[in-house]
Amino acid sequence: MTKKLSVDLKLFCPREDCPYRNDSKNKITKDGFYTTKNDSERRQMLYCCGGKHRYSETTYSGLWGKQGSFKEYEQAAKLFCYELSADTIADILGKDVRTITTWLLSMSKKSKLFHETMC
Ligand SMILES: [Zn+2]
Repeated sequence: MTKKLSVDLKLFCPREDCPYRNDSKNKITKDGFYTTKNDSERRQMLYCCGGKHRYSETTYSGLWGKQGSFKEYEQAAKLFCYELSADTIADILGKDVRTITTWLLSMSKKSKLFHETMC
């Protein structure tokens, strides 16, 4: 079992047409929650103070509107780390292989961006 880290990361505006996109001096505040029909886990809404707009934590992640729960995304990512194929993961989670492939590609893009930003 892995231990979860409690790290307070700096938030950045991801909106491409915002003049404060990726600006480390721009303030981002938490601005409420919402749930989706596929996930009872609350999702964070954020507010870009410079650009004066709200956005969801998943809006610009590629997982926006992808009909999965955070738990399912986490399970798919963990199973992929054990080198299971998208077909096998789809079978285990009872999803279509195209759905799993889309989730994995979206998570890998966001992970790459996270790595490039933080490292
Ligand atoms: Zn913004």
